[in-house]
Amino acid sequence: MAEIIDGKLVSQHIRDEVAEGVERLKRETGVTAGLAAVLVGDDPASEIYVRNKRKACTEVGMYSEELRLPGETTEEELLSLVDKLNGDENIHGILVQLPLPSQISETKILRAVSPLKDVDGFHPYNVGLLVEGKPRFISCTPHGIIKMLDFYKIGIEGKEAVVVGRSNIVGKPVSLLLLHRHATVTICHSRTKPLDEVTRRADILVAAIGRADFITAGMVKEGAVVIDVGINRNKDGKLTGDVDFEGVSKKASYITPVPGGVGPMTIAMLLWNTLESARNFASS
Ligand code: NDP
Repeated sequence: MAEIIDGKLVSQHIRDEVAEGVERLKRETGVTAGLAAVLVGDDPASEIYVRNKRKACTEVGMYSEELRLPGETTEEELLSLVDKLNGDENIHGILVQLPLPSQISETKILRAVSPLKDVDGFHPYNVGLLVEGKPRFISCTPHGIIKMLDFYKIGIEGKEAVVVGRSNIVGKPVSLLLLHRHATVTICHSRTKPLDEVTRRADILVAAIGRADFITAGMVKEGAVVIDVGINRNKDGKLTGDVDFEGVSKKASYITPVPGGVGPMTIAMLLWNTLESARNFASS
């Protein structure tokens, strides 16, 4: 039976570390790390994410602003708000909650966020630094995955890592991070054939697909470390990952649950990046 990788536990350690760092920065430089979260429209899931992020900021002693704009906001209006936040010295991290309404280009907005305040790590400049292996801000979910592996002292070097999913926010950046840590990395997607043959090679298997219970025990090598990024509702409406936890946990050596695995790490790493940014500003 697999050991559970407890994302709540690991994320609490990170938050404690961040809280200490926020306090020290304030004491030594007078700078209070600050995060602005921008929410356009009234998507209920986004509302919850933004509320949780705000609460998390308060808990670690950060300054936070929540900027809510109506669903009919124009691209120009949002660009002007981002521009204002780029120049606001109380704000060190800017988070634009996705998805944005259809009249606004997400690419344009994400590129308008100053790379120095891009704590989500989505700006092409920061993506480029990550590709080079000299990242400034690593996007939060992939960064959280590496932190969890490190916390449980799971070796990465020399391991065969398989990532299912090639999105810009999870699949690609986590593949790069594993590569920089000297794993041999294979990235799979919807056209990979035969997928199960590739996934069975994995010592470390990361599932970032968005399909409930997609990775089954037959797709996993005995003793593999399985990281489930997915957040889905199954047919009974229950929150579930991309991995069939019940079956796969009998075969894996370590596994992340959903909820309580990767999810809590994402917010913790957002706080981490915001503190990092505030430190950079304080020393510049
Ligand atoms: P995307 O939809 O952007 O990407 C999904 C990827 O899965 C694509 O690359 C797609 O391939 C691949 N895929 C889809 N179907 C198959 C298949 N049948 N076989 C193999 N590959 C397939 O999703 P995200 O990366 O944004 O998110 C993935 C999941 O992680 C979602 O459930 C999301 O909610 C969750 N998530 C969780 C976070 C957390 O904090 N825990 C943070 C971010 C996301 P192709 O490119 O060929 O279409």
